[in-house]
Amino acid sequence: ATFASLGLSDALCEACASMNFKAPSPIQREAIPWALQGRDIIGLAETGSGKTAAFALPVLHKLLEAPQPLFALVVAPTRELAFQIGEQFEALGSTIGVKCAVAVGGVDMVAQSIMLAKRPHVVVGTPGRLVDHLQNTKGFSVRAVKFLILDEADKLLNMDFEKELDIILGAVPKERNTFLFSATMTSKVKKLQRASLTNPVKVEV
Ligand code: AMP
Repeated sequence: ATFASLGLSDALCEACASMNFKAPSPIQREAIPWALQGRDIIGLAETGSGKTAAFALPVLHKLLEAPQPLFALVVAPTRELAFQIGEQFEALGSTIGVKCAVAVGGVDMVAQSIMLAKRPHVVVGTPGRLVDHLQNTKGFSVRAVKFLILDEADKLLNMDFEKELDIILGAVPKERNTFLFSATMTSKVKKLQRASLTNPVKVEV
């Protein structure tokens, strides 16, 4: 398979080529066509599988079709992962002018608020800081996002972010697509799946 054969736009196929992605990885082959069809996805995949591009590419494809600020919200368990995801969105979206902001703890709230006020297309954050912004940053809202991505869901739940996830799920619109990625399928992940996904396709590698 090629990236083009999965249904991705030329600009994104070129971005993949420029990043030296020669062919889609298994999780990308499995997930991207469903995502482009508008389905919710539960993806069982580990770091290193190419899972980030598996969710970033279809989000960017849909963003190109109907650009709007605050198009996608990505929730990740750690600061490091949030920055890595932000970098991949920027790299894959560079040719199409995608703006991405990372909202994690340990960084000045005011500086981050200014970044969010610029209305990026994609916001990637850790649960605590995202909730802090939702509750305290005037003008920051995720109620029009088209995509919610919960990455490393098992880790999010092991780190006791249930309360924050509830608040985030209450802040995004019901009409949206959700991708949940996890390395393991635990009972807590199943519960989160029921609370956040509609008729999902399960992809596993
Ligand atoms: P991830 O599993 O998302 O953490 O990705 C692991 C690494 O693989 C990242 O450095 C990506 O840039 C890279 N990567 C993702 N997809 C591909 C691909 N199709 N071909 C080659 N490298 C890839």
